[in-house]
Amino acid sequence: MSDYILVLDEGTTSTRAMLFASDGVLAASAQLELTQHYPQSGWVEHDPQEVWDKTLQCAMDVIQKAGGASMIAGIGITNQRETVVAWDRVTGEPLSRAIVWQDRRTEPFCMKLRAAGHEGEVQRRTGLLLDPYFSGTKMRWMLDNAPAVRAASDAGTLAFGTIESWLVFRLTGGARHITDASNASRTLLMELAGEGFDEGLCELFGVPHAALPQVTDMSGLLAVTDVQILGCEIPITGLAGDQQAATIGQACLAPGETKATYGTGAFVLTNQGDSIPQSSNRLLGTVLCQIDGKRIYAIEGSVFVAGSLIQWLRDSLGVVHDARETEALARSIETSGGVTIVPALSGLGAPLWRADARGVITGLSFASGKAELARAALEAMAHQTYDLAQAFAADGTSWGTLRIDGGMAANDWMAQDLADMLGVAVERPSFVETTALGAAMLAATGAGLYPDLASAVEVMRGTLKRFEPDMKDDVRQERLERWRKALNAA
Ligand code: ADP
Repeated sequence: MSDYILVLDEGTTSTRAMLFASDGVLAASAQLELTQHYPQSGWVEHDPQEVWDKTLQCAMDVIQKAGGASMIAGIGITNQRETVVAWDRVTGEPLSRAIVWQDRRTEPFCMKLRAAGHEGEVQRRTGLLLDPYFSGTKMRWMLDNAPAVRAASDAGTLAFGTIESWLVFRLTGGARHITDASNASRTLLMELAGEGFDEGLCELFGVPHAALPQVTDMSGLLAVTDVQILGCEIPITGLAGDQQAATIGQACLAPGETKATYGTGAFVLTNQGDSIPQSSNRLLGTVLCQIDGKRIYAIEGSVFVAGSLIQWLRDSLGVVHDARETEALARSIETSGGVTIVPALSGLGAPLWRADARGVITGLSFASGKAELARAALEAMAHQTYDLAQAFAADGTSWGTLRIDGGMAANDWMAQDLADMLGVAVERPSFVETTALGAAMLAATGAGLYPDLASAVEVMRGTLKRFEPDMKDDVRQERLERWRKALNAA
């Protein structure tokens, strides 16, 4: 019986293939690292051919473990968002390296657009800000700077896409050039309410509309793989950007339900239902899900530095040998002794968006040691999340409980501190690969294994661990006051 779901989880540092049984249990997986290219300071690139080759290799590996491609009911793809690939739609060959979401090279173009007064209108229409993070300015950069991209555009053979779009093109033997609505909503080229890419926005960013993919649903019969690629035709039935997939994997299907992923950075998304998000507090509006043409939206806050602060303590300062040691260190003392860290190591994201801010450690004394630094680093996660909660609340969205995931969420001390500082219960699923699980839920629904997404979520979601708030308000206020002072210094 073909009732497995194959998920291709395209991360920034690795590509993975994961095989899920229809009840959401992980049956097999394979993973390969991706080469990171840093040609200049602030530039990050991937080789699209390597992404494809390694994806295919991982997919073949788990298909073999499943007992053959005929066992698979549908494929779900979830990906690092905003990363741009340019290829020739006739030859199917990449025309340049992919520009990765972290890449800052288009800041001058963004500044120009901001100076010309476009940010308000762009934010109102797309939910996004004029920041190099998003795909549109990256496409424009390729047109201006990669001769092969410009030549293909002139010849009418240029295809742009984010990673899921590139993989679908290859998986279908070049038959389908599509992108799902969640990935499309990160390009600056689609209105939040728009069905497809917007001619006016394409003109503003200087991106030819003809080079862009068709915008599709995120679940359903979206494409079918070419028989040559995986050995038989398999329907592609789920597509989603990674944070949207994680939000679905965390079962945030009703308005107000919120998840926070603590990986390298931290990403918080709250379901907004079918109302189009309009933030007055520099949060982002984004498409959370689109099925049968019906959209639901999310409001999103992105924090640039989360787990990477722990990595920095480990690799640059030698405070710990392993990220997990931070938990025992934090527990070994009653307080951080007044030590406060503002982790603005690469500027500050939401809600302040200050690219020029830099990290600060305040309150050091001779009594400060490794434990104080580790505890202050973990406390900084709750402080940053608290500020996001305030911004979400100011936009009219309060969090009932917070559902957490990501590598750092394994830290029980941090999970409890989040509950304490936010004053809300924090829930963590036992299966923390919520991004892949969300893609599996979409694909299982799209393949007809469930009548609707809610049914898939109900069956496929695992058990939860809950952390209840337990902190006196004066302790919380003292922490926040220290944080405010340190933040001003940053
Ligand atoms: P990504 O998907 O962004 O690559 P992960 O979700 O795998 O990241 O999370 C890894 C990050 O979490 C690393 O930066 C690491 O420092 C941090 N991390 C992992 N385990 C712990 C832990 N137990 N306590 C604190 N931080 C942790």
